[in-house]
Amino acid sequence: MDADVAVIGVGTMGSMVMWQLAKRGASVIGFEQFGIGHDRSAAGGESRLFRTAGYAPLKNTNSLFVPILLESYNLWRELEKETGEDLLTINGGLMIGNPNEDFVGNILTAINEFQLDHKIFEGESAKRRFPQHRLLDGEVMVLDKLAGYIRPELSVVTASRRAEELGAVIHRNTCVEEIEQENERVRIKANGKNYYVSKVVISAGPWTGKFLPNVKKSVITPKKIGMTWYPSKNISLFKPDRFPGFMRISNGINFFGVPTLEGSMVKVALNTLYGDIEDPDHVDKNIRMDELETINSAVKSFLPDLIPEPIRVSVHMDGYTDDNDSMVGEVPGMKNVFVISGFSGGGFKMAPAMGKIGADLIIDGKTNHNIEHLSPARF
Ligand SMILES: Cc1cc2nc3c(=O)[nH]c(=O)nc-3n(C[C@H](O)[C@H](O)[C@H](O)COP(=O)(O)OP(=O)(O)OC[C@H]3O[C@@H](n4cnc5c(N)ncnc54)[C@H](O)[C@@H]3O)c2cc1C
Repeated sequence: MDADVAVIGVGTMGSMVMWQLAKRGASVIGFEQFGIGHDRSAAGGESRLFRTAGYAPLKNTNSLFVPILLESYNLWRELEKETGEDLLTINGGLMIGNPNEDFVGNILTAINEFQLDHKIFEGESAKRRFPQHRLLDGEVMVLDKLAGYIRPELSVVTASRRAEELGAVIHRNTCVEEIEQENERVRIKANGKNYYVSKVVISAGPWTGKFLPNVKKSVITPKKIGMTWYPSKNISLFKPDRFPGFMRISNGINFFGVPTLEGSMVKVALNTLYGDIEDPDHVDKNIRMDELETINSAVKSFLPDLIPEPIRVSVHMDGYTDDNDSMVGEVPGMKNVFVISGFSGGGFKMAPAMGKIGADLIIDGKTNHNIEHLSPARF
């Protein structure tokens, strides 16, 4: 045997599973087709929003989602403590929209159910406290106080390095070509060489579909996500101490923003997608000018201190499931093969908790979190 566990894909989830497994004494090897912390998949683009007042993608599962986010918060802090790195900044998070519509309504339900620390701003108080945003009639801002932003590339690098310090081995620039069960062990072929382990975690993000012959092809579809950054007439208004990250649905436009991190531009981007990707090995990294019209017009209407012409655009992707919730658990028909993938545009904030859940499943065969609704068997 080469190790107890192999992790296929050392990106967002893979790096966290490796950290958690190594911390609990498992011998673990990871395979990453590119370098660690690369930006060619789901973890690039400088920042990710973190929040605890989340609404779950699947209906009626908020009560299962918030505990995962709260556990993640503690684990982000634990990883920072173990490594001395600064990964998650808590400066609040604004959810903006009409409280009678699902988006803000569901967040208020989660806040009330879990008694989450928050404040609601509307009318003049909203204008005074967050003058960067222009509200429509009837809209409110809900400030989630345990929210902020994460540095994604550094997080993947940090969790991976910590796993290595604890004894894990990572094969970089090594592409896994196939996985095959052989009685009680699993054979992995990577860059032409065979490795043998007892258990496998597939955390290959948008590439996961290729390792799941027993589930429908459409079950994890790679989709294109575009990020856009805008300059400002007054950049000091958009620094983290004055401008929390936000999510907003107004006039049917679903978009979000993050404070300026490097001091010259502000990321404001659409939450909607730029289309399906046929083959994640060949992604069109361009966004057409006409595809930018929606986000440019949202910036113009709702953030008047930004100049509505992006000065930086980048393209990334994520694996989306049919119901937009993740796939976490043993793969049907593949004993000892687990999948943690399909985070459908929203997984970064919960990555450390998913790493812990993965380690629970591998080492204990169960987890305290209720994740039945995330079972791959639902497909
Ligand atoms: C632009 C953008 C903005 C986002 N914003 C937010 C946000 O604000 N908040 C939030 O919570 N979430 C956000 N998300 C979602 C979140 O980033 C993703 O859900 C999460 O990163 C997915 O992690 P993953 O491990 O599934 O995929 P990845 O991080 O892509 O990891 C998969 C890894 O597997 C590797 N791999 C694949 N196939 C193989 C193979 N055969 N052999 C070896 N290695 C392989 C890949 O190279 C990659 O490194 C955003 C996503 C994007 C793209």
